[in-house]
Amino acid sequence: MFNMSKFFLVIDQGTTSSRIVLYDQKFEIFDFVQKEFEQYFPNEGWVEHNATEIWNDVKNLISKILKKNKLIAKNIISIGITNQRETTVLWNKKTGKPIYRAIVWQDRRTANLCEKLKRKGIDKKIQKITGLELDPYFSATKIKWIIDNVKEVNKNLKNNNLLFGTIDTWLLWNLTKGKSHLTDISNASRTMIFDSQKEKWSDEILKLFKIPKKILPSVVENAYDFGSTKLFGDTIPIGGMAGDQQSASIGQACFKKGQSKSTYGTGCFLLMNIGEKFKLSKNRLLTTVAFKINGKKMFCYEGSIFVAGSAIQWLRDNLKFIKDSSETDKLYKKANKDENLFFVPALTGLGAPYWNPNARGTFFGITRNTSKENIIKATLDSLSYQTYELIECMEKDSKTKISEIRVDGGMVKNNSFLQSLANVSQIKIIRPSNIETTSLGAAYLAAIQSGYLKNTSQINKFWKKDKIVKANIRKSISTSSIIKWKSIINVVNNFY
Ligand code: ADP
Repeated sequence: MFNMSKFFLVIDQGTTSSRIVLYDQKFEIFDFVQKEFEQYFPNEGWVEHNATEIWNDVKNLISKILKKNKLIAKNIISIGITNQRETTVLWNKKTGKPIYRAIVWQDRRTANLCEKLKRKGIDKKIQKITGLELDPYFSATKIKWIIDNVKEVNKNLKNNNLLFGTIDTWLLWNLTKGKSHLTDISNASRTMIFDSQKEKWSDEILKLFKIPKKILPSVVENAYDFGSTKLFGDTIPIGGMAGDQQSASIGQACFKKGQSKSTYGTGCFLLMNIGEKFKLSKNRLLTTVAFKINGKKMFCYEGSIFVAGSAIQWLRDNLKFIKDSSETDKLYKKANKDENLFFVPALTGLGAPYWNPNARGTFFGITRNTSKENIIKATLDSLSYQTYELIECMEKDSKTKISEIRVDGGMVKNNSFLQSLANVSQIKIIRPSNIETTSLGAAYLAAIQSGYLKNTSQINKFWKKDKIVKANIRKSISTSSIIKWKSIINVVNNFY
C-alpha cells in the first residue's frame, strides 16, 4: 500500500552535509535523511567540494527518503532548495561535469587579489553596487580564479559550453537535466557580481573580473516556477529556492523590519530585516537581499562569523576533548568561574566586522588551572561576544534597538550557550520549536509557489517558540567582560 499523504520535499545542501527533509502540510517535519560528504583541503586556506559527489548524494537521498516512507513522486507537492551560499561551480554543459572542484565559501585562496583591489579603492565601488565587502568569501574572485587557472576554460568558453552556478543552480540544472539554468535573488546577491538594486548582473564588476556574462544563470524570485524533475518517476515541480541564511530568516518568520535571527551551524550568521530600501552599512556589515516573494523585495543587514559549530568540531576532532558536540553543554557548567580565559576562534580568518582573512585563532589568559572545561567555555562564550559585536553594528546602522533575537542551528540545542548569549547581549534569546529553520524556509517557498500558502503573513501563524532565555547576570558584569573581549580581538586583528 502506498501512502497517499502529500508533502513538500526540501533539499538542504549544507557545507558539511546534505539533508533531505519532508514537511507535511502543517509544516511539521515528517522525516529526514542526511549524509556527510568529503571536504578537501588541498592547500593552506583552501576548501573544496566535489560537486558531482554532492549531486549524487542529493539524488540518492531523495530516492532513499521516498523509498523509506513508501512514497512516489505524486506524493510530493513541490520541491524547495536551500543551500550553502557563495560556493562556486563551473561545469561543461555538454558533459555535465565540473571543470574544477567547487570552491567553498570558506576558501581564502583569493585573499591576495582582494587585498590588491582594496588598495586601489575598488572595495567602495563593489559595496555600492552589491552591498558586500570585497572579500574572498563571495563567488566573484572564486570564479575568476577558476577562469585564470583551469586550462579547460578557454576551449569550453569558445564552444559556449561553460556554465557557472552556486550550489542551488548546480542542483537545479541537474534535477531538470539541463533545462533550468537559474538562481534566485538571495543566492545571486552573494556572488559579488550582482546589482541588488537593479536586480541584474553588474556589467561593471563582470568587466573588472573578466567574467563572461554568457556563463551566468538568470535570476528570479524565491517562489517561482523553477522547472520540474522527472528523475523520481512522475514529474515533481520545483517551486522554492533561497540561500541557507535567507531561508532560515523566512523559516523564523522575520518578515517585519527590525526582526532578527541568528543561526549557529558551521558558521554563525545574524540577519536583520531592514525593509524594502537598500541601505549600506557604515559598520562593515553586509547589505543583502532577504527575499523577493510575490514581487515584494526585502533587504537585510548580515553579520557573518565564519567559525561557530566548526570550533566545536575542532574541539572534538583535533583536541579530542569530547566525543560528541552535545557534551559541551555539561562541561561548560563545570568550568572554573575564576579563570579568565578568552578564545578568539579565527580558525579561518575573521568575518564581520573585521574582515581579516589572515587572522588566526588565539587563546588569552591561560593559567596552571586552565582546564578542558575552561577551553570549552571560552569557545562557546566567544560566539556570544562576536554576536554582541554584530548586534552593536546593526543597532548603529539601523538606529534601532534590538530587543530580541530568534536563534536556530545545531548549536542552539546547547542551553549553556543560550544562557551565555543572553548574559553577554543582555537581550531576549528565543528558540523556536523547529530549529531546522533553513529547510523550513524552503518548504514555505515551495508552498507559496504551489498555492498552499498565499503570502508571508500566513507563515507567521506556523512559527512557535520553544524557549526564551533572559540574562541572569547584571549588565555591568557583562559590560566589563565585553571590554576585555574587544581589546583582545583587536590585538589579534592588528597582529595579523
Ligand atoms: P550546518 O547546517 O552548518 O551543517 P547545523 O545547524 O547542523 O550545521 O549545526 C551543526 C553544528 O552545530 C556542528 O558544528 C556541531 O558541532 C554544532 N553542535 C551541534 N550540537 C551542539 C551542541 N549541543 N552544543 C554545541 N554545538 C553543537
